[in-house]
Amino acid sequence: MPRPIEALLHPDALASNLQVARRHAGDARLWAVIKANAYGHGIERIWPGLLGADGLAMLDLDEAQRVRNLGWRGPVLLLEGCFEPRDLELCSRLNLWHVVHHETQIDWLAAHKTHQPHRVFLKMNSGMNRLGFTGAHLRSAWTRLNALPQVDEISLVTHFSDADGPRGIAHQVAAFHAATHDLPGERSLSNSAAILRHAEAADVRADWVRSGILSYGSAPDFPEHDIAHWGLAPAMTLRSRLISTQTLQPGDTVGYGSRFRAEHPMRIGIVACGYADGYPRHAPTGTPVLVDGVRTTTVGRVSMDMLAVDLTPVPLAEVGSEVTLWGNGPDGSVLPIDEVAHAAGTIGYELMCALALRVPVRVVDSAQDMSGSA
Ligand SMILES: *Cc1c(COP(=O)(O)O)cnc(C)c1O
Repeated sequence: MPRPIEALLHPDALASNLQVARRHAGDARLWAVIKANAYGHGIERIWPGLLGADGLAMLDLDEAQRVRNLGWRGPVLLLEGCFEPRDLELCSRLNLWHVVHHETQIDWLAAHKTHQPHRVFLKMNSGMNRLGFTGAHLRSAWTRLNALPQVDEISLVTHFSDADGPRGIAHQVAAFHAATHDLPGERSLSNSAAILRHAEAADVRADWVRSGILSYGSAPDFPEHDIAHWGLAPAMTLRSRLISTQTLQPGDTVGYGSRFRAEHPMRIGIVACGYADGYPRHAPTGTPVLVDGVRTTTVGRVSMDMLAVDLTPVPLAEVGSEVTLWGNGPDGSVLPIDEVAHAAGTIGYELMCALALRVPVRVVDSAQDMSGSA
């Protein structure tokens, strides 16, 4: 029998999460952001869940090629644009729209030979200070692009640094508006957090929204709000089983570094899941986990292949009992990935993207057989 860990992917949840984005986005069109291999889910594996999007956005040209191979004829946007001049040839061949965030990319376009003028998304740095032209340089970049025969439509794009938090987006929206108000073209501003928290404003929804993390069933502003608040469902479940149990006496310790010491007699379970599966090693004692759908916590350090859980709330748990590390558990129970990430001092994005290759993956509907054999 194989090791009992597995990841379940739920394309139906992805599709329903995209509908949540749509409801917040009014009549804006919807990019599903599928960078990092669909945030670790695997583009091909969750493909049916993506078909309700209006466009697919990613960074990697290989991923763009893969969605064309899957038969996607709709818009494809490269969020960081081209990395070298010959990337433009692939853009011409596969009809990829690409971000232009730097003068160098305009130089490459000016030297590019193509019969098919490109649609580009000119990126403004409205305060993130990662990619894009500042307000002072945006207009000259636009004018340069507009003069190129290689360029067709020019759209405008910017990215928010604080859509999930107290600083918010007003300062960036104002900077974007000041720099672009008299330029023609479609606009895209909002990531997941802005879609959920700020898209009641028409200039924030604009023409296109970019739905990333929310599509996969993680709340971008956790712990202020959780997925239940936003009506989102996990697109990934990581589950395993107990492979051993131990009974501890007061003073007994658990695992490497003896990081947990029992204060009273207790039973613990050993789960076939460790950091080599993508579970965060930084998750401390107290990180939430479900055993047979009952909420309990981890105890002690996470090992490479195992971790330990407190069985006090689940006295009937035995070797073989089902353990939900995140996602959907049996009988309708849910452990949002955000809770695990938060306990480990990180974000849901990182955990999804870090699902390890050695974990077998199955694609199943959210409602289907969540208590079936692993
Ligand atoms: C990753 C990314 C997004 C999606 O961000 P989420 O927070 O996952 O919604 C949107 N726009 C750009 C430019 C990105 O790089």
